[in-house]
Amino acid sequence: QKAQILVIGGGYGGATAAKYLRLFSNNTAQVTLIEPNASFVSCPLSNLVVGGSRSLAEITSPYDTLSKRHGVKIIQDSVISIDPDKRIVKLSSGIALPYDKVVVSPGVSLLMDSIEGLASANKAGATLQAWKAGPETVALYKQLAAMRDGGTFAITIPEAPYRCPPAPYERACQVASYLKKYKPKSKVLILDANDDVTSKGALFKKAWADEYPGLIDYRPRNNVIAVDGKTKTLKIEVEEDVRADVLNVLPAMNAGLIAIKTGLANSNGRWVNVNYLNFESTAQKNIHVLGDSIQVAPAMPKSGHMANQQAKVAAAAIVAELNGWEINPTPVVNNACYSFVNATETIHVASVHQYSAVNKTFEPVHGAGGLSTKPSSLEGRYAWGWAHNIWADTLG
Ligand code: FAD
Repeated sequence: QKAQILVIGGGYGGATAAKYLRLFSNNTAQVTLIEPNASFVSCPLSNLVVGGSRSLAEITSPYDTLSKRHGVKIIQDSVISIDPDKRIVKLSSGIALPYDKVVVSPGVSLLMDSIEGLASANKAGATLQAWKAGPETVALYKQLAAMRDGGTFAITIPEAPYRCPPAPYERACQVASYLKKYKPKSKVLILDANDDVTSKGALFKKAWADEYPGLIDYRPRNNVIAVDGKTKTLKIEVEEDVRADVLNVLPAMNAGLIAIKTGLANSNGRWVNVNYLNFESTAQKNIHVLGDSIQVAPAMPKSGHMANQQAKVAAAAIVAELNGWEINPTPVVNNACYSFVNATETIHVASVHQYSAVNKTFEPVHGAGGLSTKPSSLEGRYAWGWAHNIWADTLG
């Protein structure tokens, strides 16, 4: 009897896990990927679509290579429940699937109720998030394109941790790049609940000053607590209310809903604690959790690159366990994160993390990794190279 492994979510973590579970088991494990979307749309680079310099098609990839080349069975559906005792996953279509192991990589859930009025403002089309790439990404670009010259495009950032620390600041650059060209009397307002820019701070601030003087208004310690969709007004904890023409309101985030519903979020009720050697949930056996949903190790970002890396560690450990092999006692993962400051130039930060058997967590490797000195179009080309490589590694 072949081991049945289910993978929930075909994003950076799940799709990579599905592929590598097949590869590492010499195609002996039965791997089924459950994902509601027909194709993979990348969040990395999606800010270029918001800024209008790239199209959604350029960041969309098909799933079919996973089945044709690697023999992953793909079911286009959503998981509605996981029963850890009976080891059964239920899909919204009513199908029930038994498992030996389940890998859960559902991304984040957006806490719409954490900001008063946000859910209804979203319903009325007065606010958008575009924090899961797809139709909303294009809708946000359309709001930017329809904004009057002299208008304000507001981006609000929740307190860390949230999905992809540099992404809101990259988005501000992309919106500013569009406005500088087409609507120069306008501005980008960043209302950040945090004390400062949490990633690549000095580089972003220099790019804003050099490239977009007067165009980006950055306000740290501005925690948005309510939104009025009718008057397009944001209520901030300690400051005066703010009106804006486009409201890109990012609420606080938790682990993906299915992880929460299954009772896996045992880190403050928000994130999933895992054993970093195999990414098994500490709440339930045989459930391995990856990517944005987990309580990350110190200095590990919630990134697509990291989810891809975690997936390989988990896949290797799961295959080893099922075959009675020893697992790697000190896995190493790395992260590279590029941010575009305009349509072509990029800055990056990179890091390497190794598992410490003593402290039972991943720790940054000192002296490894790096940071750009300034934006460049050469790095912009590297960023596209990074994207095409990781899509090939995840899905190809
Ligand atoms: P995801 O990739 O979001 O995948 C989750 C999948 O699970 C989805 O396909 C979803 O449909 C599916 N799913 C959810 N619930 C269920 C269910 N119940 N049943 C079945 N399927 C389900 N990272 C980088 O490394 N580099 C970058 O440059 C970068 N830029 C970013 C820019 C933006 C604007 C944003 C928003 C993010 C960016 N990220 C970047 C972060 C990156 O997108 C995430 O960290 C990454 O997607 C996390 O992978 P994941 O597998 O946890 O979740």
